[in-house]
Amino acid sequence: MIKVENLTKVFRTEEVETLALNDISFEVAKGEFVAIMGPSGCGKSTLLNILGLLDNPTSGNYLLDGIEVGNLKEKERTRARKGKVGFVFQSFNLIEEMTVYENVELPLNYLKIRSSERKARVEEVLRRMNISHRANHFPNQLSGGQQQRVAIARAVIANPKLILADEPTGNLDSNNGTEVMKLLTELNREGSTIVMVTHSLHDASYAHRTINLFDGKIVPETQL
Ligand code: ADP
Ligand code: MG
Repeated sequence: MIKVENLTKVFRTEEVETLALNDISFEVAKGEFVAIMGPSGCGKSTLLNILGLLDNPTSGNYLLDGIEVGNLKEKERTRARKGKVGFVFQSFNLIEEMTVYENVELPLNYLKIRSSERKARVEEVLRRMNISHRANHFPNQLSGGQQQRVAIARAVIANPKLILADEPTGNLDSNNGTEVMKLLTELNREGSTIVMVTHSLHDASYAHRTINLFDGKIVPETQL
């Protein structure tokens, strides 16, 4: 699903140059559930944003599902992302002016789907995420756990092959965190490939394996 070779990301501002990712190579097979761990500032979000086609690497190759996507222009990147990658963020990133229903329906608006089918799919995924009773509420009327279930519903509505989650339980208490991890595990069992950034060993224990980052490099477990 993912093949990354010699990936490097440099952020340049007027004064400083940050080497956020330093020559990273790894693969993730279809159907895998991988956790990315490492201290704050080591490049986890930068890596996830590149994997999710929200950003380009400075150099290196990125094959997503067999297609080179490491060097796309912003428009092509957006197109390549639609329907293929679902994103879940620590801060939920729901649109406050839209209801739960509208938030979840959003990714389908970019795909050509009949409105009757669209409705059926939104209702089904809301049911699965156990949030149907909040369909007409706005994000600020929901608890954190409910908001993250809405965010997951939105991430999976278009049946993406790849789900990327950046500290998905970071703003949740342990009960809601466990609920989110169970949902991700279920989605993985049904065939979704998942790459998740986490600080939590408990969350990482749901994954098949862990990639450890330190200072923009992958380090073997024994060197931590
Ligand atoms: P993590 O998610 O592991 O905490 P990040 O990927 O957010 O780390 O950041 C890695 C490094 O890159 C940090 O030093 C951070 O300050 C820097 N960085 C991240 N995004 C930007 C940006 N847009 N511009 C400049 N520097 C950035
Ligand atoms: Mg981060």
